[in-house]
Amino acid sequence: MSASATHPTQLFVVVERASARMRMRLVPVQDDGEHPPAVNRGMGIVPLEALGERDDRALTEVYHAFRRLELPDAACGNVPDRLANAFSAWRDALALSGIDLRLERRALYGMALPHTDWRGSSSGISARPWDVELTALAAGLRTIVKLDGVPAELVETLRALVEQRGLRVEVVAQHTAAGSEDPSRSVTLLVARDGSTLGEARELEALLLAPRGAAGVTAATIRMGALLGYPPCCTDRFTRVAAQNDTTLAWALLPGVPHPPASPATQWLHPALALLSHSPCDLHCAASVALGERLVDEIEATQPSFAAAWRSLTARVQVIDHRGDRLALTVDGSLESGATITAADIVASGRSDPHVTATAEMLVGRTVRSDTGGLTIAGGGWHAPYVADHRGPS
Ligand SMILES: [Zn+2]
Repeated sequence: MSASATHPTQLFVVVERASARMRMRLVPVQDDGEHPPAVNRGMGIVPLEALGERDDRALTEVYHAFRRLELPDAACGNVPDRLANAFSAWRDALALSGIDLRLERRALYGMALPHTDWRGSSSGISARPWDVELTALAAGLRTIVKLDGVPAELVETLRALVEQRGLRVEVVAQHTAAGSEDPSRSVTLLVARDGSTLGEARELEALLLAPRGAAGVTAATIRMGALLGYPPCCTDRFTRVAAQNDTTLAWALLPGVPHPPASPATQWLHPALALLSHSPCDLHCAASVALGERLVDEIEATQPSFAAAWRSLTARVQVIDHRGDRLALTVDGSLESGATITAADIVASGRSDPHVTATAEMLVGRTVRSDTGGLTIAGGGWHAPYVADHRGPS
């Protein structure tokens, strides 16, 4: 067997009891990886998305049952066999509690993605205009812009730029743990066309600081999503995803490859190429495609040639590989039967991997194919668990 046969895999499963239904992942626990909420003998389970009723208390037994399983020692057997064993033992235990467990798909298992912060990146390509959200606000495609993590020393410059466009800005001060304002820290800015919208957004912001699941938080999230211009279908799915970090969103929202190529307008895996500020409910979400295309037109109106440059990078197969490197690939051929990588460009990200340039050079000319929902290269040594195919029509 080649090395490619030993890629770490995980199982996507659905648990169901009456009207409560939830997607989960069954993963091998790696020392340097994520920390699942329930672990047993080197296997872990992670909630992914509520499918039925949002209240998943009817399903808390799935965690208890998993912890009680008598599984073979972690040193015994390979990962695929251990996953299969854990799955069947767990399914049998849940059946006794009237909970149904079914396999949704196998998938390549990737690293936990670091929180996206590509603004400080000095390497890699970025094609997202810094002010794309202000452009959307001025064009009436949204009613509020929220700028998080603005360094305190930039606030006055930003305020001047925003007010030049006839927009109003309000600073929402960050607070320390003790509750007092700390002038040295970064702040959140709210921008709108009028004062009453700013007031509503400020009140929603306060509500959103409450713990997830608290009364009114879901309603506030949906209303804030509407002010931010996010399509309701996308906000609804976002509120069902178990945790709002990049890894969980990618697992919940990205289908395995091969999938039908989507428009570049919905690209969200790489923030540095994204025009949308939200994670679309589906790569083919019609409302998101329409919003993205409107933004291309608005930007092109003041920056001729923007669209061609952005499309040349974005209408590609976008991947995050097993080391967390972000790459935009052009390929020739079918991903299912094997395609040749003809270009691999490094996309900006918050982390700088010293190997990424060598990785990009190594990939060009190699044969890539889909493997349990991700991509692997012939000969092994590289795989990409997170993949979004954006070569579709725009
Ligand atoms: Zn949507």
